[in-house]
Amino acid sequence: MARCILCQSSDVEVVLDLGKMALANKFLTKTELEAGEPAYPLRLAHCSSCGHVQLPDRVPPAAMFEDYLYMSSLSETLVNHLHGLAAAVVDWAKLKPNALVLDIGCNDCTLLEGFRKQRMSVLGMDPAVNLAPVAKQKGIEVVNDFFGLESARKLRERFGPAKAITATNVFPHIPALDDFVAGLDVMLDADGVFVVEAHYLLDLLDQAAFDTIYHEHVSYWSLDAMQKLFNPRGFEVVDCERLPIHHGQLRAFIQRKGVRPASAAVTARLAQEREYGVPERAPLEKLAAQAHEVRRQLRRTLDELKAKGMKVAGYGAPAKGSTLLTFAGVDAGDLQWIADRSPLKQGRYTPDSHIPVVSTERILQDQPDYLLVLAWNFVDEIVRQQADYRSRGGKFILPVPEVKILQ
Ligand SMILES: [Zn+2]
Repeated sequence: MARCILCQSSDVEVVLDLGKMALANKFLTKTELEAGEPAYPLRLAHCSSCGHVQLPDRVPPAAMFEDYLYMSSLSETLVNHLHGLAAAVVDWAKLKPNALVLDIGCNDCTLLEGFRKQRMSVLGMDPAVNLAPVAKQKGIEVVNDFFGLESARKLRERFGPAKAITATNVFPHIPALDDFVAGLDVMLDADGVFVVEAHYLLDLLDQAAFDTIYHEHVSYWSLDAMQKLFNPRGFEVVDCERLPIHHGQLRAFIQRKGVRPASAAVTARLAQEREYGVPERAPLEKLAAQAHEVRRQLRRTLDELKAKGMKVAGYGAPAKGSTLLTFAGVDAGDLQWIADRSPLKQGRYTPDSHIPVVSTERILQDQPDYLLVLAWNFVDEIVRQQADYRSRGGKFILPVPEVKILQ
């Protein structure tokens, strides 16, 4: 078993074994379908020394992030959220016009566009080669690399220190935490702020969102664990906020120790985590039991609908859908297709389950009886967009936290 990625202790124990799976974001082309895909163990583990929740099995990062099929700009909710974040950071850190803002894992530059609207000087970093032309089109400089000590030194030389560094959704992706914080130390200005948004452990527990566990997400962050990462390395979390977006996020403001006074929100959040039993192991055991229950319910529901001759398809092909489908053994015999708004995914097939991904126009053309909502965190937006499907009698199946039919 690997050592804890946060405290290096060897007291890392598996709490949920989801089986061997292909990479959740590796949607296959027709040719790739025949070649077969590599599968890696997907297990959730808990460190009994520091309490950090993590994956103990490593996958080469290049395999996951260089051809990235996820784009923030395709969800209205997310675009509004990221533009709101830009305004919040500028306000919180009282940034002056033209201050340098670096976004790590900038994806299609949606957040950086928000900062540009706030008159900041913007710079992005992302290893995804396929998204580089998108940045270019938007006129934003993006360095095509992973962030760490070495790449931070090069950045600092070229652009100087950043007043604000952001990392939304990528913070859980980082296995080499020491190297990342060392890079932060190089690139962040003396009074700069590092703002993280990461899927929050309490929301994972609250929503039984076990499907958000996939190889990309090496860490499942609590504030407690963030403090344990930053405190011994000269940084501190000074402010935080719990947000409903993206199945629940923790927004944390991190600075060099002592720059600004810490907010009472930090102590309040830590106290709430203790109420949940974090950083202990017990809440994760409950999550594991819920995951097995969803698998049983979903299998039963799909088998019953199939027996009745119902047409079932899927809505949304997010990475977490891959975890759910593979874990529950759902395949093209259960779902005829999955509709997704992303042109990058249309025409491809889901990992492991090999279900074709089609455009959303297909929903009204085929009018399936049921749509399994894999992007269940955007269910309100999806139901609103699919009002016509619903008015013609279409129903939705919500898989998580428990299987439910929306009439
Ligand atoms: Zn640990």
